[in-house]
Amino acid sequence: MKNARETIKEIINKSDYDIYLDMINRDISGRNLPDEKKVEVITKSMQTAVDCYNELLNMCGEQTITKYAIKLQVEILYVKEKPTKYYTYIGLFNEKKKLITINIETVRLIKEFAEQFNLLDLVDVDRIKDTVTAHELFHYFELIKPDLYTNQKIIDAKIFGLIKTKSYLMVSGEIAAMHFAKLLTNLKHSPLVYNKIFALGKKQVI
Ligand SMILES: [Zn+2]
Repeated sequence: MKNARETIKEIINKSDYDIYLDMINRDISGRNLPDEKKVEVITKSMQTAVDCYNELLNMCGEQTITKYAIKLQVEILYVKEKPTKYYTYIGLFNEKKKLITINIETVRLIKEFAEQFNLLDLVDVDRIKDTVTAHELFHYFELIKPDLYTNQKIIDAKIFGLIKTKSYLMVSGEIAAMHFAKLLTNLKHSPLVYNKIFALGKKQVI
């Protein structure tokens, strides 16, 4: 079995495109899409992230992530909740309240696991909170911009084997949010690295 450091190194060495392709292939609706549709979803989701990033930069210039949130009038709430077997999260966005919730207990655990796994030379552990906040800020963009690609019904949904309707592809928004967070925080590796560290580490604590 690969150790945690090797697993994380492998992700760090992957291109963003390949990381997003993995995300689609793990997604229950995404994995059955034809290859050319997967390419389209990845490129358009990445472009959506770039467009939102440029718009935010034009609007506010280079700022800290917290200042972007203030500018966009999105509130950030920090909570400390121990992860359980059934429910863990790092960040959430509440559309109705325009509120981002960051679980600093999960953030702390990711740092702790990164130390345990001897990853401090590979992983930027000081940007977890910013990266999660930036990810959730993208979901705010999705809320105020219904026309975004990631808000469109982009896949054919099959009901009883027949193409009946179009449906949303959630993973498209997650790809864009992840890419947006990477751009906004100027992170040297994919934000997915944090999720993976947490997934590997949490097995020991819950
Ligand atoms: Zn998300």
